[in-house]
Amino acid sequence: MGILYIIPTPIGNLQDISYRALHILKSVNLILSESIQHTLILLKKFSIKNIINTLNKHNEYQKTFQYVTKLLNGQNIALVSKAGTPLLNDPGYLLVNLAYKKKIRIVPVPGACAAITALSACNIQTTSFCYEGFFPSLSQERIKKIKKIKYETRTLIFYESPKRIMNTLKDLKKEIEITRKIMIARELTKIWEQILTGTLQEILLLLKNNLNWQKGEIVIIIEGYKNKKKNIISPKMKKIFNILLKEI
Ligand code: SAM
Repeated sequence: MGILYIIPTPIGNLQDISYRALHILKSVNLILSESIQHTLILLKKFSIKNIINTLNKHNEYQKTFQYVTKLLNGQNIALVSKAGTPLLNDPGYLLVNLAYKKKIRIVPVPGACAAITALSACNIQTTSFCYEGFFPSLSQERIKKIKKIKYETRTLIFYESPKRIMNTLKDLKKEIEITRKIMIARELTKIWEQILTGTLQEILLLLKNNLNWQKGEIVIIIEGYKNKKKNIISPKMKKIFNILLKEI
């Protein structure tokens, strides 16, 4: 029986691919890609020649069984998406699901992911968080979604289209406190990478005056809800924290 490798690919900067990922892409019998064009750019950069077939949202229902048969026949397959980690708002779930049912070994390889890359620099607590994918594109649905998550205490990660970023921020303002911390990470790892952090109020103002922010690929991180009545830091902890602050 073959192995199914899940391989993240760079979200902009091609140097973000790992040695291990390159080695696997070189040695498997077949690469399954969401976009052959994108994968070819990566393979060419690292002088890798291998067979690539497509697996995307248009053909995954027809093709999954065929690829699982190849795995059952002993072929090793690497799954890649256009960019980032497969299955995170990218195709592959059907393949992984059927592969597990057939007891095929699945090997996930760590690597680039826009959500986690943004989270690592967000200046908001990262000990517990929820990844929520894309906001709905229609305002009515988006408001419903915001109402659903407005009391979530964990940090929230969303993907957003540059065309909708302003409307999404305006909808957020209707439902959540304007003092909540927000991070907008745009074009991560690319030449025009930009990171903005501030309160919802501040971010709205900054984006209104900068049309550049309404282009490219975007991650939004939202601070979780804080119940003001609850005193999360004990007086003792506060005292220690203040002493430490003076030491810095
Ligand atoms: N699987 C991918 C991952 O692991 O990040 C996500 C795929 S999803 C279809 C594409 C969305 O991810 C974009 O619309 C954007 O919201 C976010 N994204 C991808 N690359 C990004 C980048 N370089 N900077 C900021 N956001 C990015």
